[in-house]
Amino acid sequence: LLGTDGTTSPTIFAEMSALAARTGAVNLGQGFPDEDGPAVVLEAARDAISAGVNQYPPGRGEASLREAIAEHQQRFYGLTVDAEREVLVTAGATEALAATILALVDGPDDEVVVFEPFYDAYAALVALSGARLVTVPLHWPDFQPDLDRLREAVGDRTRLIIVNDPHNPTGTVFTAEVRAEIVRLADRHDAVIVTDEVYEHLLFDGRRHVPMASMPGAAERTVSISSAGKTFSTTGWKIGWLTAPAALVDAVLAVKQFLTYVNGAPFQPAVALGLRLGDEVFTGIAADMQRKRDLLRRGLEAAGFRAARAAGSYFTVADAAPLGATDAHEFCRSLADRAGVVAIPLTAFATAEHRADYATLVRFAACKREDVLTEAARRLTVLR
Ligand code: PMP
Ligand code: GLN
Repeated sequence: LLGTDGTTSPTIFAEMSALAARTGAVNLGQGFPDEDGPAVVLEAARDAISAGVNQYPPGRGEASLREAIAEHQQRFYGLTVDAEREVLVTAGATEALAATILALVDGPDDEVVVFEPFYDAYAALVALSGARLVTVPLHWPDFQPDLDRLREAVGDRTRLIIVNDPHNPTGTVFTAEVRAEIVRLADRHDAVIVTDEVYEHLLFDGRRHVPMASMPGAAERTVSISSAGKTFSTTGWKIGWLTAPAALVDAVLAVKQFLTYVNGAPFQPAVALGLRLGDEVFTGIAADMQRKRDLLRRGLEAAGFRAARAAGSYFTVADAAPLGATDAHEFCRSLADRAGVVAIPLTAFATAEHRADYATLVRFAACKREDVLTEAARRLTVLR
């Protein structure tokens, strides 16, 4: 029973994308872009196929991609990573998460701490590992954890603390104080920090991403995960990676080799090329998403929602209470018919224990063309 609702039903993304397809609604539910990323990256994948890069790549990933990942960590964050021993290419961030969790936790005596609401895969993967999920709630409107709650959640049974920054579904970015407390607790209880930073290049309003691994004392106990899907708008390529100390990479590789073995041969050199593109490409990607966030947020407010101001990621959370919502899932199911727009209830990212805290909150994806966001905003005005 893997879903947050304790069932084996399809994920909330599958449910809501099917609803959008059935009703012709604008799909602001599932977070995938409706435009492809940089043309040179796409071209590089086509070139790789033509050049015969179509068989199994090396188990740790193609050397050029591992080197590009190490260069990227140095260039953007000043982190020194050994491309040979401290990098692993995976089938998306999802496989990096899966292999890491399965490699590093053992069963019911182990605990994994996650912040709630959480990307749905975390709870499912922890369930597959047999460990106990311990959650720390994040609350509207700033979605920062309460440090006392965090201290209560972490103990000697804690094997992993899973961080997601910038955060899906809330769009929040953790404060330096929160990051420092996570490192302090992980150190005190000898836990590994697993940090999902797939939105690392999508920060707004002049913010710069601060990786967990750059915090003092963190690198030696941190598995940093990212993915080309979000940065280059290639979610279907499923090229992700992790960087970590060599012993942790070896442990994760031992699991990964029996999950997918390897993946995405011709996409790996293309992503390597992407990671080496100029700074203006990366700032352009963030600026583009910031414009979309603003467009979406204005539309939501005009329709009568109270909308949070996302600090990063693909997503904006809106409170539908001013529109009379009391059950976010019901509200989202009816929104397709009422307004021709699909969104995701935050309750889908919460445990039964805390679901009521998110009862009127809805996640909208901003990673869509501006004309699509404008049309969604126009449709949503019927709610007023
Ligand atoms: N983590 C988070 C927070 C995400 O939002 C996503 C994408 N939906 C993933 C992981 C999965 O990334 P990938 O598609 O690279 O497996
Ligand atoms: N990460 C995307 C989201 O949060 C899509 C995830 C998925 O479909 N599994 O919407």
